[in-house]
Amino acid sequence: MARRITVAKGDGIGPEIMGATLMILAAAGAQLDIDEIEVGEKVYLAGNTSGISLNSWNSIRSNKIFLKAPITTPQGGGYKSLNVTMRKMLGLYANVRPCTSLHPFVKTKHPEMDVVIIRENEEDLYAGIEHQQTDEVVQCLKLISRPGCEKIVRYAFEYARQYKRRKVSCFTKDNIMKQTDGLFHQVFKEVATEYPDIENEHWIVDIGAARLADTPEVFDVIVMPNLYGDILSDVAAQITGSVGLAGSANIGEGCAMFEAIHGSAPLIAGQNLANPSGLLQGAIMMLNHIGQADIAQKVQNAWLKTIEEGIHTADIYKEGVSKQKVGTREFAQAVIDNLGQQPDSLKSVAYVEGSSFKLPKYQRKAAAKKDLLGVDVFVQWDGNSAEEMGELMQQLDTAEVKLSMITNRGIKVWPEGFEETFCTDHWRCRYLHVEGKSISKQQILDILARAMEKNIDTIKTENLYAFDHRVAFSLGQGQ
Ligand code: NAD
Repeated sequence: MARRITVAKGDGIGPEIMGATLMILAAAGAQLDIDEIEVGEKVYLAGNTSGISLNSWNSIRSNKIFLKAPITTPQGGGYKSLNVTMRKMLGLYANVRPCTSLHPFVKTKHPEMDVVIIRENEEDLYAGIEHQQTDEVVQCLKLISRPGCEKIVRYAFEYARQYKRRKVSCFTKDNIMKQTDGLFHQVFKEVATEYPDIENEHWIVDIGAARLADTPEVFDVIVMPNLYGDILSDVAAQITGSVGLAGSANIGEGCAMFEAIHGSAPLIAGQNLANPSGLLQGAIMMLNHIGQADIAQKVQNAWLKTIEEGIHTADIYKEGVSKQKVGTREFAQAVIDNLGQQPDSLKSVAYVEGSSFKLPKYQRKAAAKKDLLGVDVFVQWDGNSAEEMGELMQQLDTAEVKLSMITNRGIKVWPEGFEETFCTDHWRCRYLHVEGKSISKQQILDILARAMEKNIDTIKTENLYAFDHRVAFSLGQGQ
C-alpha cells in the first residue's frame, strides 16, 4: 500500500534535486502518495516569519513523514531558522548523518571512512535562551536533560545494533562542563551497559574531533550533544569528498524529516548543475524508515554503481578519476538506468526491514531529596577591585548565611584573587550557610532585600542544590 508523505521542493537548487530524487524513487517502484507544501523563502517574504503556514504544519503532522529540499533563510533579523523550529516542534530528537567515502571513485584523503554521526537535535545551546545581563556580558543557557540524553544515547546504540555497527563513541567536554556534558557522559556509561555486544568509548570532543578529521576510520557510530554534532557532522561529510553527497534523517517518536545536509546553493540554482545525491541519500533513509527497505536497497545500489561508473556531477568531477561530467537530470537518468544492478567494487548494501525501531518511552525517575545549600547572586557593578566588591557584598551577610566567594566570568576573584585577573561588570557572589546546613528561600529573599536597600544592582540568582546529598553545582575556577 502506498505511504502518504509530505514533500517540499524548497528554494535555490531545491526544485531540481527534488525533481531528480522523486523521478528515481518512482522508477524504483517506491509506493508513495505525495502532498506538496510550500516552505521557505516565498513564505518568509510573504510575511510569515516562521517560513511555514498552518496548513503545511497540518500536512506534516498528519502524514508524519516529511521529505524536504533545502530552503533559503532570508538575510537579516526577524527570521527564525525553520529547520531548528521543525526539529523542536515535532520532537525530532535524533539527527542521523552517515558519512561514507566512495574511494577511489570520489577523491578523498580518507579512503576507509564510514562514520555515522548521531547528533542530539533539541537541547544544548540550541534552546536559544539568551539574555544580555549587564553592559558588558551576554549569556546563552546550555540546557541538557536526562530524558534528552537517554533518548539520543539509546537511539545511537539501537542504530548500531540494527545496522551491525561494532562501536559507539561519545564526544563531550565533561572535563570542563561537569554538570551538563557530565550528565551526557554519565547517561552514555549507564546505557552502554545495556548493550554488551557493542563496544563503547568516550572522547573529549577536542581531541575526538582532531582524530575524526585525521583518522576517521577508527570511528564507527559517534553520538554527541547538539552543537558538537552540528559542527562535526559537516566536517565529516566534507572530508568524504563533498557536502553534496550526504543525507540527513531527523527522527522523532511520531514524525520524521529527511533532507540533504547542504543548503539551497543559490549561485548554481536553475542551471542543471547540482548534485542530487545528498537529497537522494535522505530519501533512501526515508524509505528504510517507512518499511520500503527493498526499494531503498535497489536505489542505493544503483546510485553506488553510477558513482563507480564515473558518471559525476560537477562538484565531484575530477579529470582522470571521473568518466563523464553530467547535469542533475542526466545523473538521475543514469541512476534509473542502473536500477536492479549492483556495484562492482564499492560494497553493495542489503537493508533490513523496519529501521524505525521502537524505543522504550522515557520513565521519569523518583524525585531525589533536594537540599538548598545556598545561592549565587549575580550583580552588575562597574568597579574594578574585587576586594572592594567583597566588602560591599559582605554587607548582605546574615548571622547564618555569609558570602563565601566571588567570581567574575567563572574565575574566583575573592577571597585571595589575583590582581592580574581581568574583571568585567558581571559578578557572581556565592552565599552559603556557615555550618554547611540547608538554607530557606526566605533567607535568599532577605539577602536580595538588603541588596535593594543598598542600591546593589542584582541581575539574577541561581539556587545551589544538593540532590540526594550530591553537591550539584560547580566550584569557582581556581577555588
Ligand atoms: P550551501 O550548502 O547551499 O552551499 C555551500 C557550497 O556547496 C556552495 O559552493 C554550493 O554551490 C555547494 N553545494 C551545496 N550543495 C550542492 C549540491 N547539491 N551540488 C553541488 N554543489 C553544492 O550553503 P550556503 O551557501 O551557506 O547557504 C545557502 C542557503 O542555504 C542559505 O540561505 C542557508 O540559510 C541555506 N541552508 C539551508 C539548509 C537547509 O535547508 N537544510 C542547510 C544549510 C543552509
